[in-house]
Amino acid sequence: MVPNQTGPRNLLKRLRELMAEALEPQERLDRVVHQIATSMVAEVCSFYVLRADGVLELYATEGLKKDAVHQAQLKMGQGLVGVIAAHAEPLNLSDAQSHHAFRYLPETGEEIYNSFLGVPILRAGRSLGVLVIQNKDHREYGDDDVEAMETTSMVLAEMIATGELKKVTKPGLELDMTRPVSIDADAYGEGIGLGHVVLHEPRVVVTNLLNDDIDAELERLDGAVGSLRISIDDMLERRDVPMEGEHRAVLEAFRMFANDRGWVRKMEEAVRNGLTAEAAVEKVQSDTRARMINLTDPYLRERLADFDDLANRLLRQLTGFTPSALVDGLPQDAVIVARTMGAAELLDYPRENIRGLVLEEGAVTSHIVIVAKAMGVPVVSQAIGIASLSENGDPIIVDGNDGTVHLRPAIDLQDAYADKVKFFAKRQKAFSALRNVKPISRDGQACKLLMNAGLVVDLPQLKESGAAGIGLFRTELQFMISSKMPKAQEQELFYREVLDKAGDLPVTFRVVDIGGDKVVPYLRSAEEENPALGWRAIRFSLDRPGLLQTQLRALLRATGGSELRVMIPMITELSELRDTRKLIEKETNFLKRHGYQVPEKVLFGAMLEVPSLLFQLDELMEEVDFISVGSNDLFQFITASDRGNARVADRFSPLKRPFLRVLRSIVEKADQTNTPLTLCGELAGNPLSAMALFGIGYRSISMSPAAIGPVKSMLLSLDIGKLERILLPALEETEAKMTIAEILTDFIEENGISL
Ligand code: PEP
Ligand code: MG
Repeated sequence: MVPNQTGPRNLLKRLRELMAEALEPQERLDRVVHQIATSMVAEVCSFYVLRADGVLELYATEGLKKDAVHQAQLKMGQGLVGVIAAHAEPLNLSDAQSHHAFRYLPETGEEIYNSFLGVPILRAGRSLGVLVIQNKDHREYGDDDVEAMETTSMVLAEMIATGELKKVTKPGLELDMTRPVSIDADAYGEGIGLGHVVLHEPRVVVTNLLNDDIDAELERLDGAVGSLRISIDDMLERRDVPMEGEHRAVLEAFRMFANDRGWVRKMEEAVRNGLTAEAAVEKVQSDTRARMINLTDPYLRERLADFDDLANRLLRQLTGFTPSALVDGLPQDAVIVARTMGAAELLDYPRENIRGLVLEEGAVTSHIVIVAKAMGVPVVSQAIGIASLSENGDPIIVDGNDGTVHLRPAIDLQDAYADKVKFFAKRQKAFSALRNVKPISRDGQACKLLMNAGLVVDLPQLKESGAAGIGLFRTELQFMISSKMPKAQEQELFYREVLDKAGDLPVTFRVVDIGGDKVVPYLRSAEEENPALGWRAIRFSLDRPGLLQTQLRALLRATGGSELRVMIPMITELSELRDTRKLIEKETNFLKRHGYQVPEKVLFGAMLEVPSLLFQLDELMEEVDFISVGSNDLFQFITASDRGNARVADRFSPLKRPFLRVLRSIVEKADQTNTPLTLCGELAGNPLSAMALFGIGYRSISMSPAAIGPVKSMLLSLDIGKLERILLPALEETEAKMTIAEILTDFIEENGISL
C-alpha cells in the first residue's frame, strides 16, 4: 500500500504543530476543528465532549453556528452523536437526516448538511466524546476517511485526558473523565479506606503519538510484533508448560492474537496514517475494548483480558516502560486497584501506605484476600471494570463493610465517609476496651479466641487485639515474600522473633503450605491443571524433605528449652503424619547429638482440611496432640468449589446443614477422645458464623486479629447453652422449615446478641 501522504498524515502533522503552539484552549480547539475540516474537505467539523452528567456538549465547530458552542447538547444515546458515543462505534451516512436517530438541533443550523461521518473519541475503550464531519452534498465517505478520523480522534482523546479542556469547562459541568463512579462489589471486610488510586499494573501512557517516518515506525512495529511472537512460542515450548490447562489456554490465545493478520494490519494502517507504533497499538486496543467491553460471557471476557495483556506487553516492549508505582514512591494513602493480584505482590507494597485494596477478581478465601485481611487492609472484590475506569491518583473510597467502591467521589460523599471512618475508629476503640475482658459467654462458658498470623507486622496485633495466642501461624508467607528461599538461619531468627514478641502466649506454627494459590516463584516450576488438588502442602514438603527438614530444624532450635506447637497442613492419610513425625524425631536427635537445646515438649497437630480424614478420625485422634480444622480448604473440598474462584466460591453457604453437620461430627469425636480442637478458617472471624460455631460445640477458634473484638463482643452477649439446645436438634432435621441462617437471625433478635 502506498502511504497516504496528503491525508491523515499531513493532518496529524498540522495538529502536532497546533498542540505545540502557545494558545488558549478554546482557540486551540477552534483551530483544530478548522484544520480537520480543511484536510477532510468537509464543510463542517464538530467536536463534542462527554460531560459527567452524561450529556455531550459541543466544544468546538467549524461550519455550524458559533453561538451553538457550549450550548448545543445531546444526551448519551440521543441523536447521531449520542448513538456514536453510546455504542463507541462510528456512523457513516450519506443521508444523515433519514437516519432514525437523527435529531435536528436548531441552534446549530445543520439542516443543510446531508452527509455525516462521526467517530467516538476513545480511551481504554471508553467514549470520551465524538468527532464529526459533515458535507452538504450526499458524499460517500470511504474507509480511509473513517480511519483518518479515528486516528485524529486519538489526539483529541489525549487533549481531554490531560485535563487541557478544564479551562473551558463551565463550573458544575465537569467532563466525564472526572465523573464519580460507584461500583457494587463483594465486601470482604476490614473497614473503610479513603485514598488515591495506585494501579497495580499501570497502563502504559503513550505520549508520543505522531510519527516522523512511516517506514522506520513500521519497522519498529514489525520488530516488536516479531519478538512478541517468538517469546510466546518460547513460552509454549517450555517443557514445564503442560499440554492442557489454563496457563496453556492463555498462551494459545496469546499466540492466536499475535498471529492475527487483522490485528497487525489494523496497527500498520494506523502507522501509515501517521501514528507512532505505540499509539497504533493503543488505538487498536482501545477500538477492540470498546467493541468488547459489554461482553457478559465469562469466556469471552477472559479472552478480552488476554488480548489486553498482549497489547500491554507490546506497548511495554515499544516504550521500554516499567511499572513505576513502587519506584516513584507511593502516595501516603494508596488504594491499590488491580484486576487480579498474587498475595506476594501485595506484600511488596509498604503496609503503612496502603489504605485499601480493590480487585476485579478474587474470592473471600483466596490468599490475596486473606493476606489483605491479615494486614488489616479494607478489601473488596468483583469490582468489575474498576481497573480501566481509574487513573492513577484518582480519589477513591473503599468500603470493605458493605462492598462499595466510590471512584472520584463527590465532596459530600467524601465528608460522609470521613464521618463513617471516625465512627468505626470509635467502635474499634470500644472493641479494644474489651481487650482485657475474658472471653466468657453469658452463661459462663470460657472460650479461646486466637489469632491467625504469618508476618512480623502481624505481631503487635497480638497484644492489641487481646487474642489468647496465635492459633495459626502461616509460615509460608515468609517464603512467599522473599525473592529466594529463606536460609535455615533466617527462618530460625524469624521464629525466635515471633516467639519473643508473643511472650507467654502460645504460638502454633504450621509448616509450609506451598502450592494451590500460594505461589512461591523460586520453588515451583510445573503448572498443574488442578493446583488445589495437586502437589501442595505436606505432599510437596515430603517430596522435598530438604526443605521440610530445614524448617523443622529451625523451629526446633527456635523453641529450644520451651514448647513447640507444630501442625501439618492438608493431611490426607496418616502416613503423612507419621513421616513428618519421624523427621521431627530425626532432627531432634541430630540437634541433641550436636549439643543443641531441644524443646522440652513438642505438641504435634494435624490440620483437618481433606474430607478423607473425616473417615479416619478415630485413628487420627490417637496420633495427634491437637486438631485444627482448616475450614477454608475443607469447605472447598466438601462442596467441590474452588475457594479462589469468585464465580463458585460464594455459591454455597457453610452455614447450611451439610457442612455444619461435618463440623459437628468433628467436635463429637474430639470430645470423646479428649483431643484439643480449634477451627482456624475464615469462618471463625465472622461474628455470625463464629456464633454458629459456638452453638455446635467449638470452644477455640482462630481468626484475623481485627475480628477478635467483634467476635468477643458477640460472645459476651451469647448464652451458648441456649443456642446449643436450639441448634443441635435443628442440625438433625431432615424436613426443616427454617434454614440455619434463619434460626440464627431469630436467635439474635430474641436474645439481643451484639453483632
Ligand atoms: C484453611 O484452609 O482453612 C486454612 C486455615 O489454611 P489456609 O487458608 O492457609 O489454606
Ligand atoms: Mg488450608
